[in-house]
Amino acid sequence: MPFTKLGLTPNVLRGVQAMGYTDPTPIQLRAIPVILTGRDLIGSAQTGTGKTAAFALPILTKLGAHQAIGPRVIVLEPTRELAAQVETSFRDCGRFTDLRATVIHGGVGYGKQRSDLRSGMDIVVATVGRLMDFLNTGEIRLDALSILVLDEVDRMLDMGFLPDVKRIIQRCPKQRQTLFFSATVPPEIQAVASFALRDPARAEIGVARTVNQSVTHAVYPVAQAKKFDLLNALLERIDFDSVLIFSRTKHGADRIARRLKSAGHSVAVLHANRSQNQRIEALDGFKSGRYEVMVATDIAARGIDVAGISHVINYDVPKNPEDYVHRIGRTGRAQAVGDAFTLATPEEAGDVRDIERFIGQRIPQEKLEGFDYHAPATNPPRPQQQSHPRSGGQGQGRGQRQSQPQRSHPAQSRPAAHASQSAGGQSAPRPAAPAAPARPQPGPAAPRSGLTRGRWNPHRR
Ligand code: AMP
Repeated sequence: MPFTKLGLTPNVLRGVQAMGYTDPTPIQLRAIPVILTGRDLIGSAQTGTGKTAAFALPILTKLGAHQAIGPRVIVLEPTRELAAQVETSFRDCGRFTDLRATVIHGGVGYGKQRSDLRSGMDIVVATVGRLMDFLNTGEIRLDALSILVLDEVDRMLDMGFLPDVKRIIQRCPKQRQTLFFSATVPPEIQAVASFALRDPARAEIGVARTVNQSVTHAVYPVAQAKKFDLLNALLERIDFDSVLIFSRTKHGADRIARRLKSAGHSVAVLHANRSQNQRIEALDGFKSGRYEVMVATDIAARGIDVAGISHVINYDVPKNPEDYVHRIGRTGRAQAVGDAFTLATPEEAGDVRDIERFIGQRIPQEKLEGFDYHAPATNPPRPQQQSHPRSGGQGQGRGQRQSQPQRSHPAQSRPAAHASQSAGGQSAPRPAAPAAPARPQPGPAAPRSGLTRGRWNPHRR
C-alpha cells in the first residue's frame, strides 16, 4: 500500500516525498492507520525500520495546524542524541506544516529551551530528567497534551528512568492517546504498559531478536593483547564509508580513539562522560564525514541514525545480547546494506554463544588473512605522545586518509582478507586460505563476507 492510501494529510505527504520515502516500511504500514484512529499502541520493531516516521507522520496529521496552547504531544526518549534525532524527524516530516517542535534535554543550559516552551510548541521531544525539571518548576504544563509517546522503553528501564516515567505519566491528562515503543516487553515494562495504556493495539514487526537481514556479520577470534592490532588491520583492509566502533566502557572508548588517531584516522568519540557540546560535535562531525570513525559506548549510540554507516565493529562483545542487535542495527539501516564485525577473545566466547542463542543463528567466524596473530602486540602510545603527524590532530576527513607507514599487510593479500571458517564453532582460527578473491555467494545459505562484498578499493594502497 502506498503512503497516499494511509490517510495522511497532503502537507504531511509532501514531507514524506521530500524525505525521499517511496514505500511505507512494515511498521509504518501497521502503525500509521492505528494511530490515526486514536487508539493506544504498543509497537515493537527493530531500530532502523522506520519506527520514528511510523509515529511522527500520523501525529503530524492528527495535530493539523499550529496552536499556541502548550504542547499537545510529548515524546519521551532515553538519550539526548535520540531526542535530538527524533525532533529532527518531526521537523523534516512536518516541513510543509506550520506545526512547531522543540527538543529539551540535559547537558545544556535552560535558557533556549525555556524560551521555546514559552513561545508555544505543538510537539516537545524530551529526555526524562529535563522534562521532570520543567514540570517541577511549572514551566511546562501538560493540560493541552493529547498524545504521549514513550519511545525505547526497554532502554529507559535499563537506565533506571522508569520511576520518573511513571511520575510523568501520572501528570498527563487521562484523556489522551499513548504510543509505547519497546524492543522487548519484559514484566517490568508490561507493568508500565498496563499502567499507561488503555486497550492498546499491538504492532510487532519482525522479532526484536533478529538482526537486520541486510547486514552481514562475522566474529573475529583474537587474543586480548592483539585486539587493537586486529582492529587496525581490519580498518586498513576494508574500504569503508564510515565505521562505528563500540566499546563496552567509556575509558575503553577513549583509549581506542587515542590509538586510532595515532594511526592516522579521523576519529570522533561518543560516550556519557563527554560534555553535550563534545557529543554534538562528535555526532555532527561523524554525520558530515569529517570523522570517518566514531568510537562509542552503547548508551550514547542507542538508536542514532547516521546514513551510510558501512561498518559496525564491536571491539568488545556486548554482555547483553540485545545490545548486539541494537549495535548491528546502526548499519544497514532502511534499505542500505552494512557489515558488522565482532572482535572476540577466548574469554568472550561464552558471550558470543549467548548472542547466537538470542538471535537464533550462528555468526560466521572469520580470520583476517595475512594478519600475524602470533606477533607481539604493538604498544599503545603513551597518553602524552603527540598524535600521528598526518592525523592533523583529529585526522583527515573521510576519503582523505593517507597511507600509513606501519601498515603490515602486503598489498597482494588484499583481495582475500580472510578465510571463512565453518559458521558457528568457537575454535581458534585456521591458517589463512590461499589468497584468491572470495566472491559473495548468492542466497542466505552462504553468508556473505563483510570484507569481500565489493568494498575493496584497489587504489587504497
Ligand atoms: P528509524 O527506525 O526511525 O530510526 O529510521 C531509520 C531510517 O529509515 C531513517 O534514516 C529514516 O529516515 C529512514 N526511513 C524511515 N521511513 C522510511 C521509508 N518509508 N523509506 C525509506 N527510508 C525510511
